[in-house]
Amino acid sequence: MPECAACGVGSNRAVLVDADGETLCTSCADGYCDRCGTETEHTTIAGDFLCERCQRARRDQEMSRDAGQGALGDFV
Ligand SMILES: [Zn+2]
Ligand SMILES: [Zn+2]
Repeated sequence: MPECAACGVGSNRAVLVDADGETLCTSCADGYCDRCGTETEHTTIAGDFLCERCQRARRDQEMSRDAGQGALGDFV
């Protein structure tokens, strides 16, 4: 099982990312949002750094794209 090279947390306990060839958890890695460049610990399920604001923006984007298919409904 992969684990963080710095603190040893396993992939079952944290999101691990590849940082300069090292496997690190998102708490140990210095992450920068893929979209806006803000330093962030937040990642997508896929392990890409994405700050909260951009995750929300992306979710909104996906929801408006899915709206045509009438799938998920609105949880507001
Ligand atoms: Zn760690
Ligand atoms: Zn961002």
